[in-house]
Amino acid sequence: MKPGPIDIERHKRHILLKEIGGPGVQKLRASTVSLVGAGALGGPCALYLAAAGVGHIEIWDDDVVDRSNLQRQVQFGEGDVGQPKAETLARRLQHAHPGTEAAWHRHRWTESHPLAGSILIDATDNFTTRYALNAAAHATGRRLVHGAAAGWNGQVSVFASGLQPDAPCYRCWVPETPPDAEACDEVGVVGAMTGMVGAAMALEAVKLVTGAGVPLVGRLLLMDGLSGTHRIVGLKPDQTCSTCGGTRAD
Ligand SMILES: [Zn+2]
Repeated sequence: MKPGPIDIERHKRHILLKEIGGPGVQKLRASTVSLVGAGALGGPCALYLAAAGVGHIEIWDDDVVDRSNLQRQVQFGEGDVGQPKAETLARRLQHAHPGTEAAWHRHRWTESHPLAGSILIDATDNFTTRYALNAAAHATGRRLVHGAAAGWNGQVSVFASGLQPDAPCYRCWVPETPPDAEACDEVGVVGAMTGMVGAAMALEAVKLVTGAGVPLVGRLLLMDGLSGTHRIVGLKPDQTCSTCGGTRAD
C-alpha cells in the first residue's frame, strides 16, 4: 500500500457510497489485480480500476495495437498503432492515475508465470489461456472475474471454486473448447458491448475488493445488446470437472 492518507477529493464519489466509503477506498489502494488481456475488455476494465484507485495492476498481453482494434479498444488511439498493448495501456493508466502502479508483461501469460494479483481478470480472447487462468485461480484459491463479448452479446461471471465449495469454476460451465469457438478477429463485435462487459468486470472486481454487494459467483450475467435485455443464469459446480471436481475442501 502507498503511504499517506487517501485522496478524498479524487475518491469522493466512492467515499459517499456506504458500501465503499473510506475503508473501501483504502482496500482498493491496497489491492493488486492481475489483468490477462489488454484489448477490448481489458482496456475499459483497467481504466475503471485505475480510476477507482486500485494500487497495483499487472497487465499481460503479447499483442500490438492494430488499426482495426480502434473501433472498440478505446484505451488506444491512432498514435498507438504498432505499439505493444500491455505497455501502452500501463503507461496510460500511470499517466492518468499516478496513484496506481501499473506493471506490464509484453508476452502471453501461461501457467508457468506466477500472478501477483489477489484477483485475476480473464479478458483473454482464446480458450487455451482462459482454461489455464481458470486452473491457476482454482489451484491458488483466487477469484477469477470472467468476461467475453461477440456480436451484440456479452457475458460476465465470477469464479471462486478454490475458495467456496459450492462455487463452480469456468470449466464446470464450459468443459471443452466449443467447436464453434472463434477468435474476436474472426467475428464482428459491437464496440460498445465490449465496453459494457469490461466495465461490468471492473464493477465485480471493485465489489470483491471492498466486500460490497453480491458478486456474480455461480451466476452468469448475459447481455443482449440487440434486444436490450439482460438476464442471469445460475451456474452449478460439476463434480466431474477436470479442473475442480473432486478437489473441493468438503
Ligand atoms: Zn470446475
